Amino acid sequence: MQSPRPLIWFRSDLRIRDNTALFNACRRAGGRAGAGVVGVFLLSPAEWQAHDYAPVRVDLILRSLAELSGKLAELNIPLVIETAPDAARIPALLIALAKKHQCVELHFNKEHELNEARRDEAVAAAFQRAGLQAFAHTDQVCFEPGTIRTGEGRFFTVYSPFKRACFKQWESVGGVPPLEAPSAQAAIGVANSPVPQSLTGWKSSVPIERWPAGESAAHIRLKSFAAKSIIQYKDLRDFPAIDGTSQLSPYLTVGCLSHRQCIHAAIEANREANPGLKGNPLELGSPGPVHWVSEVLWREFYIHVMVGFPRVCMHRAFQPATEAIRWNDNPEHFEAWKAGRTGVPIVDAGMRQLLRDGWMHNRVRMIVAMYFTKDLFLDWRSGEKWFMQNLVDGFLASNNGGWQWSASTGTDAAPYFRIFNTYNQSEKFDQDGAYIREFVPELRDIEGPAIHDPSRLPGLLRTRLDYPDPLVDRVKARTRAIEAFKQLR
Ligand SMILES: Cc1cc2nc3c(=O)[nH]c(=O)nc-3n(C[C@H](O)[C@H](O)[C@H](O)COP(=O)(O)OP(=O)(O)OC[C@H]3O[C@@H](n4cnc5c(N)ncnc54)[C@H](O)[C@@H]3O)c2cc1C
Repeated sequence: MQSPRPLIWFRSDLRIRDNTALFNACRRAGGRAGAGVVGVFLLSPAEWQAHDYAPVRVDLILRSLAELSGKLAELNIPLVIETAPDAARIPALLIALAKKHQCVELHFNKEHELNEARRDEAVAAAFQRAGLQAFAHTDQVCFEPGTIRTGEGRFFTVYSPFKRACFKQWESVGGVPPLEAPSAQAAIGVANSPVPQSLTGWKSSVPIERWPAGESAAHIRLKSFAAKSIIQYKDLRDFPAIDGTSQLSPYLTVGCLSHRQCIHAAIEANREANPGLKGNPLELGSPGPVHWVSEVLWREFYIHVMVGFPRVCMHRAFQPATEAIRWNDNPEHFEAWKAGRTGVPIVDAGMRQLLRDGWMHNRVRMIVAMYFTKDLFLDWRSGEKWFMQNLVDGFLASNNGGWQWSASTGTDAAPYFRIFNTYNQSEKFDQDGAYIREFVPELRDIEGPAIHDPSRLPGLLRTRLDYPDPLVDRVKARTRAIEAFKQLR
């Protein structure tokens, strides 16, 4: 019997290991002569623009795609690259490709954002109409969104019980092991498309060395983090001047790595540090790996939230009552925040790290987002958008989750009256100002605690600095934000 020839549509899963769609497609083709497997990637500048992809993210995608193409070639899987002028034309484009290469079925890994899910439904329906099959695989998460529910059958909206439910599920299914890379398929003589090095309109200013591309680079980083840093993660993860976190988020976003692989690396590190460990290694053992798993699962949580409450994909607040807030409209403040010229050093350092690297440390993301929504009282949606437009790891579920947490409009959000004191955060997490000095060079020579608030310096010293005064009075700003939230009750 002839095996079917599958077409695999790669999107945010640019890897060959633990890739559910690739694994299943290859299994169905069975490596048999005559079958073969074809890969496709659609360059979708219009869709990427509409979804605020950052140039640095597109650059990482293209460079990772080049590596993927080579790895697929070793498996005799050609990677065909086409341009999709807009999302509406994708079904017809894929059907034409399937027919051209005699593929009778399509495989892809689900993307859970609302527009992407609708696009995929349209593709599956079009394939069915054309007498072809389409298989949508669950891959971005450990557990299909909707399968982890509260006792009342609802989606979780609070993280800790969600995490406990995941641990329980993990134990009851005996873990979710990553899949191996498939074996080589029958060669079919279809040529690989050249991978473009850049796309017009997507010029990244971040040096390519900052984010080495591809699945191999992602695994090198994961291995090194698991060997050297994961054990101390819990103690060091909040200090932006220290390399204490994995910096794997870009690779998870473009899919050079799966989050199951991350969780398994943490389990291995935990077992190595605790030989004979009994019980669930996700929650018992060394605090470092256990805490890291917990962070990785925030990503899973926000994906489940996005599926359960799709309004968060439509610029809507998770807590509808907070839609009534009249945020400030102050373009000058917005521009100063974007440029890292707010006069608050820790905020400015974070915003400049974003511009330099396309990435920002998690603690600082919380600080700058809280400052934006509470001190400047600007609408979280504009901050969310700016992040997406600049982050190499821009990921709707996590970005929206983080912004709505900071704005006190989201799931499990910071209570509106618990507003970070930016200066205290700075003193606590960047005690000697090393992070500020790296990103705000005009403050490099300030000694002592004034690095956290140069407006406290005596007159002459202050005037010599090319650095702005704080945009707002913190105490008044705090009162204004709290009053606005109180009005909602
Ligand atoms: C306002 C705001 C916006 C954010 N935007 C994004 C975004 O667009 N994309 C993104 O991947 N993360 C986002 N985060 C979450 C978090 O800041 C980053 O995932 C983290 O800083 C990435 O660095 P890392 O890989 O070194 O993380 P690590 O500390 O090493 O954590 C490992 C992985 O766990 C996941 N993770 C960790 N913390 C969180 C979290 N709070 N929420 C969801 N996932 C988490 C990430 O995938 C991360 O790579 C945002 C957080 C905030 C407060």
